[in-house]
Amino acid sequence: MAAGNLRVNEARLWDSLMEMAAIGATPKGGVRRIALSPEDMAGRDLFARWCGEVGCSLRVDAAGNMFARRPGQDPSRRPVLIGSHLDSQPTGGKFDGALGVLAGIEVLRVLHDAGIETEAPIEVVNWTDEEGARFGRAMIGSGLWAGRLDAAETESLRDGEGVTLGAALDAAGARGAAQSGPFPADSYFELHIEQGPILEREGKRIGVVTGAQAQVWLRARVTGRDSHAGTTPPSARRDALAGAARMVLAVQRIMREAGEAGRGTVGSLVVAPGSPNVIPGDVRFTVEFRNPSDAMVAAQAAHFRAEAEAIAAEEGLALALEERFRIAAQPFDPACVGLVRDAAARLGLSAMEIVSGAGHDAVHVAPVVPTAMIFVPCRDGLSHNEAESIEPGEAADGAAVLLEAVLARAGRRS
Ligand SMILES: [Zn+2]
Repeated sequence: MAAGNLRVNEARLWDSLMEMAAIGATPKGGVRRIALSPEDMAGRDLFARWCGEVGCSLRVDAAGNMFARRPGQDPSRRPVLIGSHLDSQPTGGKFDGALGVLAGIEVLRVLHDAGIETEAPIEVVNWTDEEGARFGRAMIGSGLWAGRLDAAETESLRDGEGVTLGAALDAAGARGAAQSGPFPADSYFELHIEQGPILEREGKRIGVVTGAQAQVWLRARVTGRDSHAGTTPPSARRDALAGAARMVLAVQRIMREAGEAGRGTVGSLVVAPGSPNVIPGDVRFTVEFRNPSDAMVAAQAAHFRAEAEAIAAEEGLALALEERFRIAAQPFDPACVGLVRDAAARLGLSAMEIVSGAGHDAVHVAPVVPTAMIFVPCRDGLSHNEAESIEPGEAADGAAVLLEAVLARAGRRS
């Protein structure tokens, strides 16, 4: 059995998760470690120290991405990458991102303690600013590395205080000497909490992530006429909010028509002028659809447009609907996904295939490096929340699958 005698140390992994969670700990038990803040930098220092303790060399690129390298026996082999992120939401949890990075360190520790050499090098990556909480864009470090984001444009993004990403990288001392760009890598594995309720509901220990879903984001503006609530009879009303409400329900209906895989959300709605006795003449709202199928989200967006236009016509309203963002579904590498599936089976862990509902660094990495993700359940599917919670055994199960998959790819020399 490939890695049968190697064991993830559950207590050590948990202690490391708790030690990292103490950096930026919030009173409600969560974490506030916003990208490039003093807390994020302290987390990065701890990461660097831990990687150094197991003999890894550290390389930091111009986007602040950190790569801890454990050499392989064959210097010509491409490295196997393990990664995720140490930054958090303003009121984030202990495990979102940190689990994937610290499980990577646990893999390094297991190999170090057992004196195992692999043929290919292994690199554990901490990607810069996955959360997007500061500069208004998520998955920045991995996107820059993979060449999916434009460096100049991204570095000019500003936070709430007007500081650009580029200036924040320099001020924090997070920018490294290495150029940020995709170097040849054998594969990339990311362990993450599911951030949704499916594994827990299905009673499965491991999610074998087959890819990430497609998304379409729209912005709608409905224009009617502001008028007096007491004097305007039904025939004379052009109520933008009543029309928008019908459109919101259309989003929900279109979502449900896609079954359990359907996702359709109106997350923001602004009503003007916003007075109790004025019929609202101006409503703006956002719409997003997500689905594993590119064709499905495209059809849903088109369906919504047709319905919204019909509603606007019936209600005597003007509708402006623009597409703000579209990202194609990103399937993961079948061979790497297969290694995750095999590892779970070999370890006797119940598993199911799942499509990631959230964005992850792996989504940016996947177009340039063969990629797979491993999910573990989290309580009540709760994430981006200080109450985010997993059990030590769940973290260890995810790390054990990670270890097996990485060893299968890196080639173990005993
Ligand atoms: Zn995350």
